[in-house]
Amino acid sequence: MNSEVYTNLKKMIDVNTPIIYIHDYDFTRVDFLLKQALGSETEILEWSPALGYQEIKCDEDGDIIRDKYGSDKKDLENVLHDFYNEEFIKEPTYLVLRDIQDGIETPKIKSLLQMIAQRKLYDVHFDLTLIINSSVVVVPKEIEKYVSFLEIPFPNEDEIKELIKEHVETNGYEAFDENAIDALMPSLKGLSLFEIDRMLDMAMSSGGTLTKEDKEMMLRHKKQMVKKSGVLELVDSPENIDSIGGLKNLKEYLRKKSGVIKRIGEAIKAKVAVPKGVFIVGMPGCGKSLCAKATAALFESPLLKLDMGSLMGKYQGESEKNLRQAIKIAEAAAPCILWIDEIEKAFTGVGGSEVLTRMFGYFLSWLQEKKSSVYVIATANNAANLPPELKRKGRFDEIFCVKLPNEEERKQIFEVHLRKREKHGINISDALVKATDGFNGADIESVVNEAVEDCFVNHQQLTDSVLLDFAKKTVSISKSCKTQIDEMDKIFKESNFKTA
Ligand code: ATP
Repeated sequence: MNSEVYTNLKKMIDVNTPIIYIHDYDFTRVDFLLKQALGSETEILEWSPALGYQEIKCDEDGDIIRDKYGSDKKDLENVLHDFYNEEFIKEPTYLVLRDIQDGIETPKIKSLLQMIAQRKLYDVHFDLTLIINSSVVVVPKEIEKYVSFLEIPFPNEDEIKELIKEHVETNGYEAFDENAIDALMPSLKGLSLFEIDRMLDMAMSSGGTLTKEDKEMMLRHKKQMVKKSGVLELVDSPENIDSIGGLKNLKEYLRKKSGVIKRIGEAIKAKVAVPKGVFIVGMPGCGKSLCAKATAALFESPLLKLDMGSLMGKYQGESEKNLRQAIKIAEAAAPCILWIDEIEKAFTGVGGSEVLTRMFGYFLSWLQEKKSSVYVIATANNAANLPPELKRKGRFDEIFCVKLPNEEERKQIFEVHLRKREKHGINISDALVKATDGFNGADIESVVNEAVEDCFVNHQQLTDSVLLDFAKKTVSISKSCKTQIDEMDKIFKESNFKTA
């Protein structure tokens, strides 16, 4: 495990932190970390709702084992109560409380945790450190000030390589092609040790060894695993930059950035700044999401979509922890694209809410100081109430505004969608271009879809005039949502974002 984790844990202990919170569901990994960092002689006790009270030890081979400790029937309240009433605890003792999220909110438990934390701070003869290890974050307000969070990063490339070698040796699998590791690395980055282990088991049990062909299977499983994190989704995208009609400036910009991202190692050596990301604001249905997806193909990087709505947890500290978790996964999966869709939904109203303000501050400083090759694409419709800090230089490299497509762009969007449906040789007339004034990309796509379907059903040839008929029947977004579109248009005209 990354040596920084040991150092951070030791620092927390040195400064007498009363409660250390480890948000990680991989309990075996945490046991191993604690034994390594605290020494195998140190007394580490554990309480969990499932197994009660136990001692965590090492056997002669250095493997972690558990032993009953006193009565395993004791409930959490009794355990904490007994510790608090100890006359003294002179030897450093650690009590690991696992998955106590259901009990931690009860008044008695909160108060006992608080009292133990205070005794630890003020009584030199009471050396008990509480370690809460849980798969979710629940920290009642009353104990928040005594808690420090210990972050466990995901394994880096070297650690993953080491893990693969160990896995092959311990399971007696056939030797494998070393080059396969490089091909499989993107599928394994951003996962925990436990998940990587499972993935290797699946790959090896199917073919007896690791091959480049396991990549597809691994990516499929990684998708599910990332989704289980609850905050991120690994998005698969067949789109490429040529599936975008118009948006000439934005496409050119992204092409240039891809030249840096794809050679990031050399770029850093040549002192080229690592691209941070791009902010795309604009009209609905005009290709913002399409751009995020096409960029993934252009950069040849995985696309991780952050669902801002699911970040907001109901417990104290949960939302911030979720955001940190999402960023941690993205950092570990780098080079990748972190797509924050509808960013305005999360950060509008910052200032009114303490949690939002803290989350926003954390996000901004991460973005500003970011050194990793996580490229952020934030998309938003409503630019009206966005916090000004988000638009300031130094955060995103550039902000682009996507407006309703002009004549030339509408023509190109028609061409893209006709090409996708293999309808070649249709000349987009000026009449069609003019009839679709006020249409967004999604409206144009729908005209093409309807016309193609109609021609299929009626055994008819698709022509420009069929498209024109359907365009005339379509109620565009500018008509159906006139007030909102006019309002957005006004805001975009007033802002000085670059035209996409
Ligand atoms: P929203 O703000 O509502 O999420 P958006 O700007 O992200 O909208 P997209 O999801 O990218 O819009 O586009 C919606 C549909 O319209 C897509 O299926 C896409 O194929 C089509 N489309 C939009 N703009 C374009 C474009 N410039 N070129 C080609 N297709 C487009």
